[in-house]
Amino acid sequence: MRDRLAQVRDGILARTGIEDAPRMSGFRAHGWHATKDGHEFAEPLLVELDRAAAFKGHVRYVISSHELTSDEKDRVFNSLFVGVLRVSFSRYRSSELTDIVFEDDQSPRSRYDVIVQRAQPSGEVRVSVEPKGDSALAMADYLLYATLKYVARVLEQCKTDNCGISHRPPISTEVSYDATGAIEMPGHLTASDFAFRMYKTFVRSMSSVLEVPGAIAG
Ligand SMILES: [Zn+2]
Repeated sequence: MRDRLAQVRDGILARTGIEDAPRMSGFRAHGWHATKDGHEFAEPLLVELDRAAAFKGHVRYVISSHELTSDEKDRVFNSLFVGVLRVSFSRYRSSELTDIVFEDDQSPRSRYDVIVQRAQPSGEVRVSVEPKGDSALAMADYLLYATLKYVARVLEQCKTDNCGISHRPPISTEVSYDATGAIEMPGHLTASDFAFRMYKTFVRSMSSVLEVPGAIAG
């Protein structure tokens, strides 16, 4: 998968017509970055993931009514990391080796080790830290971005208290297919919505998506 994404990246770098795009120098240096990439950078990645990806997405998120302080951020992120790792460790407990790659956020290395230990790995684990441009991380970056955009758009669209529709992004087992084989997703969003289209790229690979409740005090 990494190799394939590296090829896609080379293809973008070799394309004429976008070499003067303002994003190009950042992309050449650091690769994909979901919140910064324009269409011409995002689309080839999304197409490749949609066509060929073999992965399972697990997402944990919290919704906060205020901007988190840096202490809160650390605490919440730690608990989200532990939550998502526990799922992976229990699901892949028969694996010989589990490779955990954290996106480098300048934290001391000990932070990642504490997180992994708190998640109670059952087998051998290799922990590494890579910068955001890493191709495998780009996939995770986009997956998270698509999920959070979806959640944000749904909350924006939902104007009803007591709404009966689930606002959690659907997972692979919750979508249906129309007569032509196209994916149908329930909820507030429609095909005209970019967040909807982007999340659709990933939904067939989504294994679990959970809002973690009560992680933020007041
Ligand atoms: Zn609603």
